[in-house]
Amino acid sequence: MIKLSLPKIKCKDVFAACLTSLPEDNEGKDYIKKLNKIKSKMLVEWRLFDHRAGTVDLHLFQASSHGNKSQSVIDEVSKDEFVKLYTEYMVKGGAVPRDVYNVIRASSNGLCPLCGISIVTTVDHYLPKARYPIFSIYTKNLVPACDTCNKGKGSSVYKSKESQPLHPYFSSNHFYRTDWIKANVLKTTPLSFLFYVDPPKNWSATDQERIKNHFNDFNLQAKYSINASQFLTIIKQNIKSVLGRGGDDKDVNETLISFADSEKPNSTLRVILYAMANDKDICNGLYL
Ligand SMILES: [Zn+2]
Repeated sequence: MIKLSLPKIKCKDVFAACLTSLPEDNEGKDYIKKLNKIKSKMLVEWRLFDHRAGTVDLHLFQASSHGNKSQSVIDEVSKDEFVKLYTEYMVKGGAVPRDVYNVIRASSNGLCPLCGISIVTTVDHYLPKARYPIFSIYTKNLVPACDTCNKGKGSSVYKSKESQPLHPYFSSNHFYRTDWIKANVLKTTPLSFLFYVDPPKNWSATDQERIKNHFNDFNLQAKYSINASQFLTIIKQNIKSVLGRGGDDKDVNETLISFADSEKPNSTLRVILYAMANDKDICNGLYL
C-alpha cells in the first residue's frame, strides 16, 4: 500500500476541460448547456466527497441502481451522460483532460497504491462510476491502479466505514507507517508463506476491520505469495553467508531483522524477512 499526495489539479478545471472536448454540433451544445446548468449542484457533491472521504463516510452517498443508463443523476443529466464525461471526454478526449488522466495514472511512480506490488495499468474510480456517476471525473475519486486491483474491486458499493478500502489520498498515515501484515513460513518445496492481517491492538475496531477487508478485497494473500518467491534466493544467500562465516541461528536472526528494518512497513520483503527471522529451523540453515 502506498500513500499518495492529492492530485494538484483544480477539479473545476477538469470539468471545464472535459466540456471543451465535447463536439461542437447541436447535440454537443445541448450536452454542454445541461452540464453547465447542474455545475453548482455537482460542485456541492464534490466538496461533500472531500469531507466524507476525510471521515471515512463515503458510504453515505446514495448509489445509483445497476444498469438503467438513462436514470437522472442531477436534474436532466443522466447517469450515462456523467459516465461519458470520463470514458469519452477524459480518457479519449482532447489533450487537456487526457493529460489529467495521465498525471493521475503516473502519480504513483508505476506501482499500484492499492496493493503496493503490481504495475499501474489504469485509473480506478474509488467510488465506481457505474454506481456513483457524479464522481466519474472527480480527480480525488480517481486513483492509479493495477489491473487486478481495479477488476477485483469492480463496482462494489460500500455499506459501512469498515467496507471502504484504504484511500491512497485520504487514509491516515498510520495505515502506511505501521506493520499490520504478517506471515508464517510454510515448510513446502520451495518455501512459501501464509500472509495474514495482524493489526495493532490499540487501533479502533473500525480500522482493524477495514484493513482486513482491504487485504481480502484485493486478494493480497495471493499477490504477496507470488511476489515473495522472487526474494527467496537472495535471502537464502544471506543466511548461507552468515552460517558460512561461523555464525549461528542468533546471528542469522539478527541479520534478517536488520535487513527487514530497512524495508517499508508491510512490504513483501519486510514481512517475509521477519517471518523467516522468527523461524528457528530457517535460522539454523534448514530448508536452504
Ligand atoms: Zn494493485
